[in-house]
Amino acid sequence: MEKNKEIVLSGIRPTGFLHLGNYYGALRNWVRMQNEYTCYFFIADWHSLTTHSDTHELKSNTRRLVSELIAGGLDPEKCTIYAQSDIPEIPELYLYLNMLAYKGELEKTVTFKDKARQQPENINAGLLTYPVLQAADILIHRAHFVPVGKDQEQHIEMTRNFAERFNHRYGELFPIPRAFSYTENLVRILSLDGSGKMSKSEQQMNTIYLNDDDTLIRRKISKAKTDQGPLVPNSAMPDYIEGLFTLLRLVSAPEIVAKFEYDFNHCQIRYGDLKKQLAEDMIQMIKPIREKAAALQNEPGQIDEVLARGAEKARKSAVTTLGEVRKALGFTHH
Ligand code: ATP
Ligand code: MG
Repeated sequence: MEKNKEIVLSGIRPTGFLHLGNYYGALRNWVRMQNEYTCYFFIADWHSLTTHSDTHELKSNTRRLVSELIAGGLDPEKCTIYAQSDIPEIPELYLYLNMLAYKGELEKTVTFKDKARQQPENINAGLLTYPVLQAADILIHRAHFVPVGKDQEQHIEMTRNFAERFNHRYGELFPIPRAFSYTENLVRILSLDGSGKMSKSEQQMNTIYLNDDDTLIRRKISKAKTDQGPLVPNSAMPDYIEGLFTLLRLVSAPEIVAKFEYDFNHCQIRYGDLKKQLAEDMIQMIKPIREKAAALQNEPGQIDEVLARGAEKARKSAVTTLGEVRKALGFTHH
């Protein structure tokens, strides 16, 4: 790995199939960044325990996710791909950072409040300290940039705070990382009913997965929420319509987007036509990724090899950082 390049870190939970939000919010940036930075991308298997306590499918989900990431454009020759649970230095850093994180700020986190609402019977402490573990993931490589979707913005802000507190108390060790996107704003892909974000583990019929076959993509899009159309020219778009236009802008040609925008602004839009066009363009984008991921899954040995090499490289970086952290804290008894 080249020296002096800025460091990039990002991760994804093995909680289900990749969807358009993961692709446009995260993976698309990763694929571009691997050519320009020293990149670490990891499968956040420890993080998945906060919401998915059953670990039976963890291994197969992890392998499948790696094959989807590679099918989506990650190149294990250009970036380091590893499983979080292969890096024992992370939980030690997590312990130190926990001493710098306050209960009040953790309780105020939007993702914590959302998940606590969704699983009131399992508001575990890991869920509360999720942003601290995430900070450890980032800081263990002293990363500069964290390419994530909009839903993770607050977590990155918290990582910045923890890093600043550490630096202030124990000496400058960590660069202050930034959320990163090549687009002007961080991306947020809405679910097809406009009620929240697309997600791996919720809302399966309102989320489009990179594994969905052509028929399912057509069906999901045809069921997306619309209405009778605007009655007044140049109306503001409701969230769910804005969501469809966001997808159209991502997968369709600019003149097609312009046509439907014109139709919307002139109160002559036919959502049925928009959905048909969107579905076909979406299929063009998803199909090659789905097929490549399926082919890779028939080569489990190759995926294991990627993870083994990745773990080795990631540990090297983690061991170095943790050594410096221990020195800064004074844990150098022998
Ligand atoms: P889960 O429902 O299990 O939490 P998830 O879909 O939220 O799954 P994560 O593994 O939590 O996925 O996040 C992986 C990356 O995908 C993060 O960078 C996150 O910001 C991004 N991401 C997830 N959902 C969206 C979305 N709807 N729009 C944009 N980015 C998203
Ligand atoms: Mg999530």
